[in-house]
Amino acid sequence: MILNFIDGEYREGRSGRSFDDINPVDGSLIAKVSEAAREDVDDAVRAARRALCGPWAALKLAQRCDLLYAVAAEIDRRAEDFLAAEVADTGKPRELASHLDIPRGAANFRVFADVVRNVATETFIGHAPDGKPALNYALRRPKGVVAVVCPWNLPLLLMTWKVGPALACGNTVIVKPSEETPATAALLGEVMNKVGIPKGVYNVVHGFGPGSAGEFLTTHPDIDAITFTGETRTGAAIIRASSAGVKPVSMELGGKNPAVVFADADLDVVMAGLTRSVFENTGQVCLGTERVYVQRPVYEAVVQRLAEVARQLKPGRPDDPAANFGPLISAEHQQKVLSYYQLARDEGGLAVAGGGVPGMPSDLARGAWIEPTVWTGLQHDSRVAREEIFGPCCAVIPFDTESEALMLANDTPYGLAASVYTRDIDRAHRFAAALRVGIAWVNTWFLRDLRTAFGGSGASGIGREGGVHSLEFYTELSNVCIKLHGESQ
Ligand code: NAD
Repeated sequence: MILNFIDGEYREGRSGRSFDDINPVDGSLIAKVSEAAREDVDDAVRAARRALCGPWAALKLAQRCDLLYAVAAEIDRRAEDFLAAEVADTGKPRELASHLDIPRGAANFRVFADVVRNVATETFIGHAPDGKPALNYALRRPKGVVAVVCPWNLPLLLMTWKVGPALACGNTVIVKPSEETPATAALLGEVMNKVGIPKGVYNVVHGFGPGSAGEFLTTHPDIDAITFTGETRTGAAIIRASSAGVKPVSMELGGKNPAVVFADADLDVVMAGLTRSVFENTGQVCLGTERVYVQRPVYEAVVQRLAEVARQLKPGRPDDPAANFGPLISAEHQQKVLSYYQLARDEGGLAVAGGGVPGMPSDLARGAWIEPTVWTGLQHDSRVAREEIFGPCCAVIPFDTESEALMLANDTPYGLAASVYTRDIDRAHRFAAALRVGIAWVNTWFLRDLRTAFGGSGASGIGREGGVHSLEFYTELSNVCIKLHGESQ
């Protein structure tokens, strides 16, 4: 049984209910998960509040940061355990989880400990514009008890991306992992206890959204802030629910990210980028590419090469050395993605690769498998080219001019990420600057420096995290003003 982690202890939820944690590779049961009741969420919030005002606040900044380094070291030491838990929950290739998810889980604690250790705040000394001399300086205080609501696509990575900076800034947290992927958040409780993080600083409550732990947590009156990663629609529901308490929110939401390929691009570089951005993690990456705009002279070449990549991907078990492509997260998500595969046919798209469910051996037949898919013939304004699918698929659409490409790339309610491929350095800068997105990559994809700002425009989110930008959300800035002597009022 996967348990809730409250006040430093593993506990069964008082709902008396449990739900199944299913392995998407073969539909087998990994474990039962104990669902938290409202009373458990209350307990977690109380524990987080006690720790916030007690032992956690009593630590000096350097001690707090040393503890976060110890958390990172312990994740590294137990990398095999985290890997096993993450791979079972998600079905992703071990290779991917071992170079992306788990090391980033540890890095998220080190990087933000360093950021917080080294950050300065503003100071003004001297005459203010109205002539009175004063010393003004800013203090950063922790926001308080932070609710962290997480998705299933990169469970440990995206959870620690919030927990790392929140704790580094002196907050305490209550994590609500996705019901699809509860294991690594639960396991992290063992790490916290092992390295001596005070009880109540890190809490985990399991369950669903509405009517369950997600709703109990995000509507709790004693939460000070909510940081959320997930679908735009869910983010909107949480903003509505949180408005009664006027809680600050950080929202990392969905995307429909474009890649733009100019005819002068190095096509090997393009293929290296698109192979990852369309198909990695079975297309379940918020930053992933689902729209590929290609300048007409290289359109056919890109379509052919991308279709070939899709055909070469080998679905199979995460530890099968011959396989490099996992299932979708669940049978439910498989049905959603397949409904878009059908819609693509209805909208006049041609699947030049994929378009359905692959034949799998009988021991994997109950897994959430899907074919990597490349479409041509879809219009830019088709639903398949406009709505987030969150699967290993893309529409490839030709364009002629740079201004047309920019119009197409920006013509979306979303604004998370984009990639542009060109060897023209002027165009690279010009085009990247004109994209209405939080992150624009040139000749690459998902190359992340955790010191840089991350977040989305439009329907892709509110706020920026990463580096010092995380401090804007996880701390309150207080200004202290001291009147300097020597002048009368
Ligand atoms: P989701 O919105 O369905 O669920 C996310 C979390 O919210 C889960 O823990 C869920 O239980 C909880 N939840 C659902 N309804 C809730 C409610 N009413 N109140 C409180 N909590 C609630 O998202 P998902 O399917 O887990 O993840 C996929 C989505 O996440 C995609 O849209 C993807 O683009 C997005 N995503 C965005 C980023 C980013 O950085 N912008 C990163 C990863 C994923």
